[in-house]
Amino acid sequence: MRRLKSTLDRIDNKGYGAYKDLEGSYDFGSFTLHVDKVQRDPFAPPSLVRVRTGENAFDPDLFESPVRRFAFEDFLTRCAERAIRKAVKGNRGSGKSGRVEVQRTSQVVLPRTSVVADASYVEARMAVGLPAKGRTVDARAAREVLLEELPEIVAGALTPGGVDAEAAREHVETVEDAGHLRGLLASLGLVAFVGDGAVLPRESGASDRPMAGGAVPFRSPEEFRRTVELPNRGEVCGMGIPEGVTLIVGGGFHGKSTLLSALSWGVYDHVPGDGREMVVSREDSVKIRAEDGRSVAGVDISGSIGELPGGGSTEDFSTANASGSTSQAANIAEALEVGTSLLLVDEDTSATNFMIRDERMRELVRREPISPFIDVVGPLYRDLGVSTVVVVGGVGDYLDVAAHVILLEDYAARDVTGRSREVVRDFPPRAPVGGGGISHPRNRRLEAGSIDLRRGKKTTARGRGLSSMELGREQVDLTYLEQLAEGGQTEAIARIAGEFASVKSNRSAPEVAGEALEKIGKEGLGSLGGFRGHPGEMSLPRPQEVAAAINRVRTLKAATVPA
Ligand code: ADP
Ligand code: MG
Repeated sequence: MRRLKSTLDRIDNKGYGAYKDLEGSYDFGSFTLHVDKVQRDPFAPPSLVRVRTGENAFDPDLFESPVRRFAFEDFLTRCAERAIRKAVKGNRGSGKSGRVEVQRTSQVVLPRTSVVADASYVEARMAVGLPAKGRTVDARAAREVLLEELPEIVAGALTPGGVDAEAAREHVETVEDAGHLRGLLASLGLVAFVGDGAVLPRESGASDRPMAGGAVPFRSPEEFRRTVELPNRGEVCGMGIPEGVTLIVGGGFHGKSTLLSALSWGVYDHVPGDGREMVVSREDSVKIRAEDGRSVAGVDISGSIGELPGGGSTEDFSTANASGSTSQAANIAEALEVGTSLLLVDEDTSATNFMIRDERMRELVRREPISPFIDVVGPLYRDLGVSTVVVVGGVGDYLDVAAHVILLEDYAARDVTGRSREVVRDFPPRAPVGGGGISHPRNRRLEAGSIDLRRGKKTTARGRGLSSMELGREQVDLTYLEQLAEGGQTEAIARIAGEFASVKSNRSAPEVAGEALEKIGKEGLGSLGGFRGHPGEMSLPRPQEVAAAINRVRTLKAATVPA
């Protein structure tokens, strides 16, 4: 600490570059401060520091198993966020002066690199804007940040005295229960579970927090009610959605999309208080939507789309500008390629001509290459074992193909499967267009060399917030990856994509994602690289999002491999 003080005294009022002298480690008694990387100027990305306590005095119960450990580390990250808000004054001069940041969390609990709870220490990785007056070192302000604020953060977030033990236990147990519940789904023949009492609606279209007041808690229809036994909570009741094709119907604004969206987030565990703690779906579920304008590289969409104008093959379909329906077909084929057991489809975000075609239109337009999704959902389950939950308000033809029908009325769910059978009897079913089966899309190899990481003299592969990643000169748009939860996942995905591009060996998308996640499983997320032991900004992505992100690189080239 004395050394830190004297260095600061020495560099006071010098050019900002003098801060470089701070790099190194400092013993604060109860913890060690590591200054890993000093920013070049006050406006550059903030400097990277780590604080590591001399011991881990928390109850080992909180981090004894892998699940508990990542949940606890997630919890401590949130504690650090709170402690920073409380202890840090913030703006202390030009640029990012005085800012202290830890990885930003969302409503979901993920393995992340921001905090490590090891058996013998607790470490938080943070970014600090070293304070400047103009472009010179402001040592007095730096002393306050490093010698007063940081120790307060350590005391408030990384030691048992500063942390709410009951909240920590609840966090860890909630995550353990949710993971257990998700693990039970397959053996129960379910694709998703929505606990009674769950709060599904969100605060707003721009916020993933729970609706503040007036939310109608979820209640399972009797016919779908299942009871499960969880390690911490004990018995939990809720709606089990069976494998196969399930329809969610209901009038406009009655809560259909809200339920489907909750299912799509059910691939992740949620923080206590979120309302969706006991809403889970198969971990490989994929929300499918139309995404016109996206690029597609060599994807086999022949399962939904036959011949294209000009005789273009759909077994090896590439375009720089997909239409609503071809983009949705590509999204499904890519999901099948990387592996999924549940597709989630909402009419609100689907292309109409992809979902359905009626008799009149079939009569008038003879040259329609699309087999509408209504003809594909059945075979998807029958031939490939892939279930679908689809939201439809307007197209009763879907009743023909659904095994289960859930009606939402004033946000309340009812089983109307029986009634839907009567309706089908009274209004005769339409004849299917294709009526054939469906096979797995052809394998495809991505050309690593088609992703160019060069940007000027350097190479880059990094996340840019939640919905964009920068690979060389390309900004890859990830806006429509609806199950991407955090910028930390985007950062991890960008690095995986970067690694794939630089190793220069062609692979299939499931190989790229699978191998990367296997390596992370063994060596941790930090193995994706960072600056000297400071990889602090990543959270774990799913293989589905890794593949989806790479599939959206506009320069990507790929070719199907004949079966
Ligand atoms: P739909 O897809 O059936 O048209 P939405 O799911 O978009 O309806 O929901 C319509 C509105 O109702 C949204 O503003 C949503 O936040 C709200 N909402 C949904 N479920 C509930 C609920 N259980 N309690 C209160 N409000 C809800
Ligand atoms: Mg809707």
